[in-house]
Amino acid sequence: MIEKFVPDIYAQSIYRIDYEKLVKKGIKCVIFDLDNTIVPVDRSAPSRDAVNLMFKIKSLGLKPILMSNSMKKRVEPFRNILEIDSCASSKKPLKKNYKKILSIYKFKNEEVACIGDQLITDIWGANGMGMTSILVNPISKKDKTITLFNRFLEGIIMKRLESKELFKKGAYYD
Ligand SMILES: [Mg+2]
Repeated sequence: MIEKFVPDIYAQSIYRIDYEKLVKKGIKCVIFDLDNTIVPVDRSAPSRDAVNLMFKIKSLGLKPILMSNSMKKRVEPFRNILEIDSCASSKKPLKKNYKKILSIYKFKNEEVACIGDQLITDIWGANGMGMTSILVNPISKKDKTITLFNRFLEGIIMKRLESKELFKKGAYYD
């Protein structure tokens, strides 16, 4: 059970992920979390770096998709500026919207990698779907109120994972 929270890849940020390596592994689609993965929760537009990264990802032949538990109103500006498709109010880690994405874009589970900053939504969701899960550090210390409880649980899970030597904070791997 606890293994479901272990990310396949652990990177400092979205800028430290080896996307070329993902392509070589057969990944065709990269699902990005928004808040604290691409931007801090209190920012309403992506950075120039984020825009450039999406451009790079597309040029590698990967399909980036924004999948956020935030509402459409929050997600829409990023969808427009980053010029990528999106799924708002996605209810991660529930499977429904992951399945919807697979059926719309005709990807197989193993062709998809999911990047996010939370074990309980992003990593658990991706692992449950048999997708490649990639954990990044949250960009800022600030979280949405709704996330605070998840962070509390995440702290407990991380301690458990560390005691079983399944995961160590700051020990990045790919
Ligand atoms: Mg997040």
